[in-house]
Parts: sequence; C-alpha cells; structure tokens
Amino acid sequence: MLKAELLSKSFPTPSGSLDILSDVSLSGGGGERLVVMGPSGSGKSTLLAILGGLEPPTSGSLQLGDVKPYELNAVCRADFRNHHIGFVFQDHCLLESCTAIDNVLLPALASGKVKDSLVERAQSLLERVGLKNRTSHLPAELSGGERQRVAVARALLLCPTVLLADEPTGQLDSNTAVQVIDLLNELVDETGSLLCIVTHDESVAERVAGCPQGRRLRLTDGHLVK
Ligand code: ADP
Ligand code: MG
Repeated sequence: MLKAELLSKSFPTPSGSLDILSDVSLSGGGGERLVVMGPSGSGKSTLLAILGGLEPPTSGSLQLGDVKPYELNAVCRADFRNHHIGFVFQDHCLLESCTAIDNVLLPALASGKVKDSLVERAQSLLERVGLKNRTSHLPAELSGGERQRVAVARALLLCPTVLLADEPTGQLDSNTAVQVIDLLNELVDETGSLLCIVTHDESVAERVAGCPQGRRLRLTDGHLVK
C-alpha cells in the first residue's frame, strides 16, 4: 500500500518560493490504477518524482508498506527505488549504447550480478511486448513505439510494487499508444503493481481508469481532486 499524506512541494527561485503542490494526499494498493491529469506545469511530474522516491517533498510524508523512503539514507533509498519502483518516461530514457535486452536488464545490473532467471524474464518480457526479434537492437534501430515497449519491459523486470508512468504515450501515434497502454494494463494485472500514470490523452485515461480498479485524479492549483 502506497500512502502519501499532505505532500507539499515548493521550489526556491530568485523571486521567492514557487509553490507547486499543496497538501496532496493519496493512497493506493496493488492492482489499482490511478490516472493523474492536469494542465502543463501543474506539478504532475513533480508528484510522480516524489512518489517514486526521487525528489523529497518540502513537507508531508510518503510510505510504501512499512517503509518511509525519505527517512532512508541516499544509498538505501536508491536500493529501495530499484526494488519497489518502476518508471516509464515520455521519452523512454533508454541507454543508446545498450541493446534492447541490456536496457531491460538495467534494473538488475544496478544490484549486482544478473541471475539467469532474470535474463529469462527479460527475454520473456520482450517477447510479451512483441519484440522477440529485436532483443539485440540498439534503441536507434527501433521505432518510437518499440522503444517505449522496451521501456515498459524494463520498468516491469523486477515486478515493482509501484509502476509510475509519466506521459508514456506522449510521443506515440494513437494506435501505438493504445497498444502500449493495453500492454501496460495486462502486465500490471500480472505483477499486481499499483499503476500511477500521468497522461493528457483522454482515450489513454479512459482505457486505464475504465478498469474496475481504476481512478481518475486531477491536479489543479497544487491540489489533487477526484
Ligand atoms: P507538469 O509535469 O504538470 O507539466 P512539472 O511537475 O514538471 O509539471 O512542473 C511543475 C512546475 O514546477 C513548473 O512550473 C516547473 O517550472 C516547476 N519546476 C519543476 N521542477 C523545478 C525545479 N527543479 N526548480 C524550479 N522549478 C521547478
Ligand atoms: Mg510533466
């Protein structure tokens, strides 16, 4: 169970403090899907970064299970992120010099030697996302939709407790976007992860929030509303 309570975030700027999030609370459990929408600049990416243990809030608390990530030191927090959080970003963020399979295996490399079982899981995830014959391709040799599917496979390698997706279909055409979202829904069903996705795309929002365990949330003026 992820529980965020009264999260606020301000950034210091030369002209004073910029208040982005005010008293944002949310919670969700495995298998649930939260869709966050809101205007550009409303703090959606900032919220995901806080939920993912990447950016400490100015105030408020975050708890996943019985762990409070922002009470851990930097090394433990990085380890926590690696094991419990999966990220899919709008621009996929694959390493250009690594093949598709090596990109999928990155979360495992971070924690040391890669077990054979994880190599098998990486292969089977790539197969699931329709890239069985692309495992040794570099990102530059893949289409936008294929790169995004590699990013989905990477985020799910270690069956994260929470999967955070920040406009994962922002750069895809609508057909490819639907494929990526259906796949995300399917894989999240299997891993039992809590999915929290930011999107501007109404059809994407509907496909995710329309699931029985789906919910829509909107960020406006720093507040998160249903
Ligand atoms: P969204 O994802 O909803 O478009 P963001 O979370 O990226 O919005 O950003 C929200 C606001 O916070 C923006 O106005 C942005 O300029 C500001 N912001 C984000 N990160 C920083 C930072 N590190 N320093 C100062 N301002 C920031
Ligand atoms: Mg954003």
